[in-house]
Amino acid sequence: MYEFRHGGEAHPRPGDSPSSEQWAEYLYLKTNAAGVQDEWWCHRGGCGRWFQVRRDTVRNVVQRTFVAGGGAGEPEVQAVQGESVEP
Ligand SMILES: [Zn+2]
Repeated sequence: MYEFRHGGEAHPRPGDSPSSEQWAEYLYLKTNAAGVQDEWWCHRGGCGRWFQVRRDTVRNVVQRTFVAGGGAGEPEVQAVQGESVEP
């Protein structure tokens, strides 16, 4: 079992009254960037918290981690900064 679980690309949610097309785009259309993208990850082997990661998908290297809607610097998040991760 890996300590961290990949949760897919992170995109801003659509506005207050999204159309069906906007919901479909948000839920199902992925960029799958060959390069840097923001992603959701879960610390499933620890506290179970979901957080966001800015990762270079080509080199599989984490550039930055942050808690969505909050500040950076969570101890468990720092554990993966600058290290390679298993998607
Ligand atoms: Zn944690």
